[in-house]
Amino acid sequence: MKPTHIEHLGIAVKSLDESIPFYENLLGTKCYNIEEIIDQRVKTAFFRIGETKIELLESTDAEGPIGKFIEKRGEGIHHIAFAVDNATDALALAKASGLSLIDNVARKGAEGMNIGFLHPKSTHGVLMEVCSKQESGT
Ligand code: ZN
Repeated sequence: MKPTHIEHLGIAVKSLDESIPFYENLLGTKCYNIEEIIDQRVKTAFFRIGETKIELLESTDAEGPIGKFIEKRGEGIHHIAFAVDNATDALALAKASGLSLIDNVARKGAEGMNIGFLHPKSTHGVLMEVCSKQESGT
């Protein structure tokens, strides 16, 4: 899928209120965007480090994907997101090479990006996301 760079690292946290000041202090940069993604049942907070971002994820629902992740594994790195030219094409390519997908077609994620996830069972245990800025299918 030839990613251009790591777009962001997703980190599951119990509380944005507690973790945002920690990351602001650690990274020496302010959180520049907080956004709730209703269908993923998370609130996200973003920090920029060069071309790459840190995405903190706080669950808004214990039964949501981040709620379950924290319940099972605690806080920590949740996924790695690769920037690609077209997320839908990258998903199709991954599928054609035999990988299992969570999303067959890209959908809207945080920051208006087109995003999709590969299933960690076919990626050596790492939840991988692809994301692109351009509209899929155009
Ligand atoms: Zn992400």
